[in-house]
Amino acid sequence: MSALKLCVLSSEFLPYAKTGGLADVASALLRNLRLLGHEVHGFMPLYSVVRAARPELQPVLGVQQIPLALGDTEYRFSLQTASFPGTDIAMYFVDCPALYDRADFYTTEPDEHRRFLLFTRAVLESCKRLGFAPDIFHCNDWHTAFLPLYLKTLYSSEALFAKSHSVLTVHNIGYQGVMQVAAVADLGLAGAEVWLDADDLAAGVINPLKTGIKFADAVTTVSPTYAREICDGPLGMGMQATLRARTDKVVGILNGVDYRDWDPRCDPHLTAHFGPQDLRGKQTNKEQLIAALHLDLAVSRPLVAMVTRLAEQKGIDLLFDALPAMLQERDFGFLVLGSGDARYAAFFDALAHRFAGRAAFRGGYDESLAHLIEAGSDIFLMPSRYEPCGLNQMYSLRYGTVPVVRNTGGLADSVRHFDPQSGLGTGCVFNDYDAPAVRWALGTVLDWYEDAKNWQQLMHNAMAQDFSWARQIAEYDALYRGLVA
Ligand code: ADP
Repeated sequence: MSALKLCVLSSEFLPYAKTGGLADVASALLRNLRLLGHEVHGFMPLYSVVRAARPELQPVLGVQQIPLALGDTEYRFSLQTASFPGTDIAMYFVDCPALYDRADFYTTEPDEHRRFLLFTRAVLESCKRLGFAPDIFHCNDWHTAFLPLYLKTLYSSEALFAKSHSVLTVHNIGYQGVMQVAAVADLGLAGAEVWLDADDLAAGVINPLKTGIKFADAVTTVSPTYAREICDGPLGMGMQATLRARTDKVVGILNGVDYRDWDPRCDPHLTAHFGPQDLRGKQTNKEQLIAALHLDLAVSRPLVAMVTRLAEQKGIDLLFDALPAMLQERDFGFLVLGSGDARYAAFFDALAHRFAGRAAFRGGYDESLAHLIEAGSDIFLMPSRYEPCGLNQMYSLRYGTVPVVRNTGGLADSVRHFDPQSGLGTGCVFNDYDAPAVRWALGTVLDWYEDAKNWQQLMHNAMAQDFSWARQIAEYDALYRGLVA
């Protein structure tokens, strides 16, 4: 089959910039689409930390100091490029210091919407100047969700894009990029109001994600269960009607795992490797982890862990009562690595003080520690209120770290509840979003742990799961081919 020309836009790509799963998934898309033989270009903003860390970036001739007005402000952007690490994929960075020289990738500053509107417009302008005619523009999340509308309006007479189609992947419908209607001039679309949602305009806002869902040629999300949840119920966060109004269905494609980064047999962050045939290295990782976090826990006792953004979505509220109670009742260790909301950090901090030696909290973002936690823990807890896909439960499975998850989104699609009678299943799955359900789940998994035979079976079931991108990427390939046919 013929190769397609693909343009993937994302606000994050690993290894350049990452705050969550989007970065893993965006770069996995690049690499795995290239492996299928497609011509793939990736685009992201050139944040100042990326510029500082990447001396290899080269200016792209012919795409320097290009003027681009948003409303009454004139910006200039330039394009820089480098090969995506270890590949021949062209990665492009939109350089606009006025918008991207900030302390964080995302801000709450008044021009936040402009940072991503400019990025989106700059990608289209860059493709024009590069003479690159993508078959597919693959947009990710609200940041690039105006591209489908731009293709159908501002760029509709652009011959280069005459055969281009747009795909929008919703990684988390909770983030919609809503902006004030006063910003309408920044869109650069004369008479933009006719394209925008009338109810939103009446309420004084513009919703980028909703606009993307309306105008993209295809909309996907990151698991089949989440696709159903956002169309049918409150997890759609106000977007249900827009999703259901599409004549085609939102397609749920489960994210894959890049096992070159996340496999205990070869994980570059670990000093002790292990696999299902020889689990001794897991013990060594557990010892290292206990030492690193200054826990006072016998290696034989179960260690429960979380690596998470500290956000309401992640279900931490359920732990406020459940965790202290469980730590009183049962003999296990608990640790968290996370960054985000201060009130969750304060809760975990207090827990670590109260149960000193048995509970630990590390604030901040630490890629290496995240890998050691996957390798050295016994149980991985994800009590999410909602979870579009979730990656850590899939990583955990490969590391023989038994996931305890709520029955939602991608968690439901990747973990099957273990049945000690039949020996089938890969983790512990609970239904209700409440504290008793979490306590039940933790109690259940701790009981399983005490039966060594059960536990061995469960670990082996988990480690045998295959969520590789090699399987998942075929679904994107089929979707693209359906659009261009
Ligand atoms: P989300 O994108 O909602 O944050 P995912 O489970 O899809 O959740 O992806 C989270 C990714 O971010 C995983 O790769 C996880 O290991 C990583 N991660 C989250 N918080 C941290 C942290 N504090 N330190 C290191 N890695 C983290």
